[in-house]
Amino acid sequence: MTTTDSNKPFRVLPRVTDANRHYWTGGADGELRVLRCQQCRYWIHPPTSVCPQCLSKEVAPEATTGTGTVASYTINHQPWYPGLDPPYVIAMVELDDQPETRITTNIVGCAVDDVRIGMDVQVVFEQYDDVWLPFFAPANAT
Ligand SMILES: [Zn+2]
Repeated sequence: MTTTDSNKPFRVLPRVTDANRHYWTGGADGELRVLRCQQCRYWIHPPTSVCPQCLSKEVAPEATTGTGTVASYTINHQPWYPGLDPPYVIAMVELDDQPETRITTNIVGCAVDDVRIGMDVQVVFEQYDDVWLPFFAPANAT
């Protein structure tokens, strides 16, 4: 699902390159896409051109399940950016597809005090221009 309302908070948008475009635009199709080694099937994030497990250069984006678990998090109380009001949660989410693959993201869709380590979450996307930012929300709330 994609949030398209006009009162979204300000976000710092990533610089989209050929190497990471699959990640930032997969939300257009509702997919959290991560590079995957075509030889040993290892998921690779952040994107690199060589598989860290088997050194194969045959890597290609594939859709993950989009589900994961909160591995760690911190509640930010600092107003770093105008328009993005604290508090908000910055988290490391382990993907169910491969728990050692972690994504730095924000937890949305619940109160900051409700976030817990080990909480099941699933991806939600916020679209900004041609970028779909992957955030995670409680799995039972979406
Ligand atoms: Zn590999």
